[in-house]
Amino acid sequence: MTRIREVVRAARPADPEFAAALARRWAELPETARTPGQLLGRHAVGCEGTHGVFPQCDLACTPCYHSRDANQVRVDGPHTLAQVRAQMGLLRDQRGPRAHAQLIGGEVTLLDPDDHAAALAIMRAHGREPMSFTHGDIDYDYLEMLVLGPGGRPRLRRVSFAAHFDSLMFGRRGLPRPPDEASLNPYRQAFAAMFARLRREHGVRYFLAHSMTVTPANLGQVAGVVRDCRVMGYGMFSFQPAAFVGDQRRWHEDYRDVTGDQVWTQIERGAGTTLDYRVFEHGDVRCNRAAYGFWAGDRWYPFLDGSDPGDLAVRDAFFRYFGPVNFTGTPAGLLAVRIALIAARHPRVITLAAAWAARALRRVGLRRLLARRVRPVSYVMHQFMDAVDVTPAWELMQRGQASTDPRIRATQERLAACHYAMAHPEDGTLVPACVQHCVLDPQENRDLRVLLPLPQVPRRRAGQPGAPVRGRRAGALGAGNAGFAAESDAGPGPGHGRPAAGRRRGSTGGAGWAAGAGACAATALRAWPAALGLWLANRLLDGLDGPVARAGTPTDAGGFLDIVADFSVYAGIILGLAIAVPGARLACVALLTAYYISGTAFLALSSLAERRRQRLGDERSLRFVGGLAEGTETIAVYILLFLLPQHATAIVWAFTAAVAVTAVQRVHNGLRLLRAPRPAEPGGIPRRWPTPKASATAPLPLRVRNPRHNGARELPCPAR
Ligand code: SF4
Repeated sequence: MTRIREVVRAARPADPEFAAALARRWAELPETARTPGQLLGRHAVGCEGTHGVFPQCDLACTPCYHSRDANQVRVDGPHTLAQVRAQMGLLRDQRGPRAHAQLIGGEVTLLDPDDHAAALAIMRAHGREPMSFTHGDIDYDYLEMLVLGPGGRPRLRRVSFAAHFDSLMFGRRGLPRPPDEASLNPYRQAFAAMFARLRREHGVRYFLAHSMTVTPANLGQVAGVVRDCRVMGYGMFSFQPAAFVGDQRRWHEDYRDVTGDQVWTQIERGAGTTLDYRVFEHGDVRCNRAAYGFWAGDRWYPFLDGSDPGDLAVRDAFFRYFGPVNFTGTPAGLLAVRIALIAARHPRVITLAAAWAARALRRVGLRRLLARRVRPVSYVMHQFMDAVDVTPAWELMQRGQASTDPRIRATQERLAACHYAMAHPEDGTLVPACVQHCVLDPQENRDLRVLLPLPQVPRRRAGQPGAPVRGRRAGALGAGNAGFAAESDAGPGPGHGRPAAGRRRGSTGGAGWAAGAGACAATALRAWPAALGLWLANRLLDGLDGPVARAGTPTDAGGFLDIVADFSVYAGIILGLAIAVPGARLACVALLTAYYISGTAFLALSSLAERRRQRLGDERSLRFVGGLAEGTETIAVYILLFLLPQHATAIVWAFTAAVAVTAVQRVHNGLRLLRAPRPAEPGGIPRRWPTPKASATAPLPLRVRNPRHNGARELPCPAR
């Protein structure tokens, strides 16, 4: 009898607790969000996400949604599991027995696979359908270790991943600085292929979502991503116009120039049709837009056509009869029983469904349906809000006040209808994800830095036994910063960059400068052979100064003196020439002017570039590369001057032209570099720290690299 009662309870179409949670959710919605297509309160309570569980990420994005301290927090399995349990517990208490939840924070695959699997199990135990968020630069090994338990038997029968791919991310293996979105397509494909293999080899079902941030830089490429990636295996594509919610070091003002309308237009362009985002809504349409449908061959069709009253009647019937049914995560047999029970109780749904099927058949065409593979693919746009609006809006909401400022008021409306919640078990509150990122994350991550400090690892020289292996991230530092080169001791010149720090001016440096000063004096005195000898001695001693400095302890003061000494000699020789050859004075003034502009461009850029790179934590000095007149050319031209002083005027004018071209090159390249997204930082490219299971002082082990939601039957979370 008890068994029969259990079966009857399980087969109930709707869980009364979930139905009550939906009713509460509807009651909480602001009037502006109670639209005919609103899913919240009718079929879903909204999406949920974790926070403060593993803030770190090992790629770098511009913009970045993480606060600046995020990468200073150690990834810690026990902390993650404890937090996931507490946060899911509160969500279960306040939002009812089921929802979609995202295992998100930093990069989920920095978790040990066992911890990752345990976190997913905790989420499922709390009625949450979990989706893991990753940057997608992972290995199949990690996925296998995630889904297979001890003994090699699958411990996860279904996984959901959201992979973030876009050309604003830096440090991906094989493509540290993607030139455009299309160049990432092989990586998108490879990521999806791993899950096909996982299903083939281990029978693990999966749902994949693709997420992408949109700025003015890649807005025009959104349509291409939609078009090119439609058959890769992703069930959802989510696009997020950039919003300032994270690290201000990775924020550019013009990111705000992209609007939700623009992004949606581009998605429509890629899909080749208009996408009606009012059929189903998630909260406020200023935050979220979604279109659910399928590709049949090269054409996308909506499941429900918003312009067809018959289809809208199907939607309304779905809300009415199937709203509280849990589609995701319900075994297929049980789900079939529930649907049959509802159909038996409300026969109208059968006629509605049959009419809908006939309409869909007409729209697509029987031939196309039979000849082309049908792939359900949904499109989503989620637009986070800027901290500059969220912070005051939330403060007022905390005091129960509505803003009189229309912009802040609109923000409050969106926050009130937020469908993406995060839990704070410490005070029993739920907050919108925008508030979490904009208002709470910075302090939370500062606290976590103290709670979970990064391990102190003894520094070892490269090549020494036990030296940390810079695994796949090495490329992010090298190839990822093609505009800059590591320190070089090739002869510097005024048309040439020079290491500005990390040098120790050695004894050879002082002698070198003395020789250079002598060359200046000899030039003024027309002692050309002496000037030539002293100039060569200056260059030789300067060349020796680098190795001598590195043999000791390089200092910033040494680097500073070095560059001042060099520039003084370059300019001094030209001054001497102007004294010695009156006919070349105008040319000398022109050359000094060109030096001045070129040197200013170089030094200003070096300073800015150094500031952009200082968090890399490496020990390289910067040298701005590129330019017609470099160090070697300077040496050669001065030699020519000393050998052919009678042609000094022509030589100086010719070199002036070369330095002027270098100055223009330098200004042009400098603007290009400084307008480009900032290169990766330690905030974005940390070393791969060991899990807490590892000794805090042990050499860093290489860990298996790794890695969102199933149920195309249900409408998944569109956020992120
Ligand atoms: S997180 Fe922000 S943008 Fe997203 S639904 Fe909530 S309020 Fe809107």
